[in-house]
Amino acid sequence: MKRASYGLLTFLLTFTLAPSTSGQTTGFKVYISSDMEGIAGFVDSTQMSATGRDYDVGRKYMTEETNAAIAAAFSAGATEVVVNDSHGSQFNMKPHELDRRAVIITGSPKPFGMMQGIDASFAAVVFIGYHAQASTTDAVHDHTYNSHLKSVRLNGREVGEYGLNAALAGHFGVPVVFISGDSAVCRQAKDLIPGIEALPVKEGIGQTAAQTLHPEVAREKIRAAVQAALERAQTMKTTKPAGPVKLTTPVTIEMELALSAQADSAMMVPGMKRVSGRVVSYEAPDMTVAYRISRLVARLATT
Ligand SMILES: [Zn+2]
Repeated sequence: MKRASYGLLTFLLTFTLAPSTSGQTTGFKVYISSDMEGIAGFVDSTQMSATGRDYDVGRKYMTEETNAAIAAAFSAGATEVVVNDSHGSQFNMKPHELDRRAVIITGSPKPFGMMQGIDASFAAVVFIGYHAQASTTDAVHDHTYNSHLKSVRLNGREVGEYGLNAALAGHFGVPVVFISGDSAVCRQAKDLIPGIEALPVKEGIGQTAAQTLHPEVAREKIRAAVQAALERAQTMKTTKPAGPVKLTTPVTIEMELALSAQADSAMMVPGMKRVSGRVVSYEAPDMTVAYRISRLVARLATT
């Protein structure tokens, strides 16, 4: 808890005591986690899988939306931007195609997966290309980590990747100020994350069908909205500022798997409890442990 409190204090000091005469704050770090299913312009796995026919299109669009967010962060006054490639193998974006002012975390496995590198030194988190939690209606590629996890609950609250990742950032006192993706994940994130700015770039008609913005329009909107969200957070002008997702500890994480055999595998983790045939539960001392348990169970489910 001490680290989390310190992170929140850092955030408050950065954003309330440092504005320059122009009203802009400088000297803060932004963390960008980029996924792929919620990028504008495509819905099909041939564009999202490394073996897919149109994968080059998907990774290009993902890179360009991320570049829009990087540019927005620097325009808002950030001096450091860290980008984490968070989709599948986690080496989709080609570093030389990214805005050279950012540094990139690429590859897998990583203990903190989609949030590797997050700590209390960051002022804000931005999610790009996100998708809805598993078992959501009219959502493009709704899932949580993979197709085997049907439901994940943190302290009884249903979440997807957006929620697990926001709660991990919240452990360090860092707020998630922006999310883009399909309209389903935008609704879910707004329900959970205080004051988040959510930008839908496509409306799911089903798992693999959507009405989508043109990719260039999506990038322009992301650039404007990310900059606005970061500037709002800096000046605290909003009546409902973005705040970290804080969970009470210990954190109970409950996971429903597709098959009872997968729950059998999850029971290899010391301390794991069997709730029912396909549901397991783990009481973690804090969100860093709960997060790693979630990744471990997702991985065990594939064996
Ligand atoms: Zn994902």
